[in-house]
Amino acid sequence: MSREQVSIAIVGAGAAGLMAAIHAGRCAEGRGGPIVAFDGARTIGAKILVAGGGRCNVTHHEVLPEDYAGSSRNAIRKVLRAYPVEAVVDFFAAEGVTLKREETGKLFPTTNKARTVLDALLRSVESAGVELRHPARIESIDRLEDGFHILGDGLDVHARRLILCTGGKALPKTGSDGLGLEIVQRLGHTVTSAIHPALVPLLLPDGDGVCELSGIAAPVTLSIRTGEGRPIAAYSAPILCTHFGISGPVVLDASRYLLADRAAGGSADAYVDWLPDEDRGAFERTMLSASGQTTCQGILRGRFPERLLRMLLVAGGVDALDRVRTLTKARRIAFLESLFNHRLEVVGDRGYTFAEATAGGVPLSEVRLDSMESRIVPGLHLAGEICDVDGRVGGFNFQWAWASGFLAGRAATVATTRAT
Ligand SMILES: Cc1cc2nc3c(=O)[nH]c(=O)nc-3n(C[C@H](O)[C@H](O)[C@H](O)COP(=O)(O)OP(=O)(O)OC[C@H]3O[C@@H](n4cnc5c(N)ncnc54)[C@H](O)[C@@H]3O)c2cc1C
Repeated sequence: MSREQVSIAIVGAGAAGLMAAIHAGRCAEGRGGPIVAFDGARTIGAKILVAGGGRCNVTHHEVLPEDYAGSSRNAIRKVLRAYPVEAVVDFFAAEGVTLKREETGKLFPTTNKARTVLDALLRSVESAGVELRHPARIESIDRLEDGFHILGDGLDVHARRLILCTGGKALPKTGSDGLGLEIVQRLGHTVTSAIHPALVPLLLPDGDGVCELSGIAAPVTLSIRTGEGRPIAAYSAPILCTHFGISGPVVLDASRYLLADRAAGGSADAYVDWLPDEDRGAFERTMLSASGQTTCQGILRGRFPERLLRMLLVAGGVDALDRVRTLTKARRIAFLESLFNHRLEVVGDRGYTFAEATAGGVPLSEVRLDSMESRIVPGLHLAGEICDVDGRVGGFNFQWAWASGFLAGRAATVATTRAT
């Protein structure tokens, strides 16, 4: 097999890889030799198609470094600034995809179809003159003096520059199974000591009262605290009770903090405030001044669905018909704890198959932030989830992919055309 020569190889054509391909191609304007994007998946863009429940939450109207975890906020800010939300909105508008902002601040295509987003990206890759080749799984990459030797799936390629966009490990059936993380390490990079699912539902022990509430959703504040009680993170949004434990936006957002603490040897747990809009002190005063006839069930009525209400009574160690005023102080506190500070004994997570993102990856300290070029392997650029950056629910992960992909694609072309 003769070795194919390309100018830029993009390995991984998910959100970041497609954006990198588009900007590499546009910037090259046909100069500098072939630009080829390789992806191992049979179906390109499977993750884009399932994103946002099939509607694709492309970005968020306001994206701040605080919406992310992993590498330093300053580093994340620099990359995000280079390709802000307005640039993404304009990019998609120019490709015929109008985005609309929903009440939550999330931006979706007006068609409500992820397919519209993917089709626009694929059209744009083609018109930028980039070849998209798949299924073409890359098995190994070696650094050469004048570029990279890329092998896989009947492929033997020499590339002058390489953009690695193989993602993390979330939803491995779409092709992001972590091989890229091994490849980047073999090339000389480090990855964070802990790599774990982010935006993932959490498991509770069999028989936990919450598992009996399958299907119930409620607005809560969910706090993650270390085993020593130090607050790590807190989010307010709906929780969804399921047969295995808890899910919903608030759980997805908080999950990475609990798992990170545990991965570091800690014993963080999750605490639910089931009455996020009520003040605990005021509620206690309402209890103390309630009529002698007011029962524990009565004081909660109207605040919760019936099944949740019953679970909270059990968790608080009170009977439905116990009179609120006759509870001893210790029992009153236990009841209040179940309402405002309900500890959930998280026994695990649902794993990468159900995770929307990966926490951990290549630290941004190993990357030049104006070009996403490696500080360790010249000629290699990184973009997307392979980096140690994970965002909360709401379009933040795609925004990271668009911004880092844009920088990597453009910079790779600038470097190759400068060299010719
Ligand atoms: C169910 C779900 C819903 C989501 N919804 C949203 C949402 O609405 N909004 C949002 O902002 N984020 C969402 N996300 C997160 C978002 O999809 C990811 O953060 C983003 O797609 C990451 O882009 P990426 O290009 O870095 O990686 P990926 O999208 O994972 O793409 C990596 C690509 O690399 C390819 N690849 C991997 N290894 C190789 C190899 N060795 N050779 C060749 N190709 C390879 C894979 O086939 C894949 O196509 C969701 C994720 C999931 C799982």
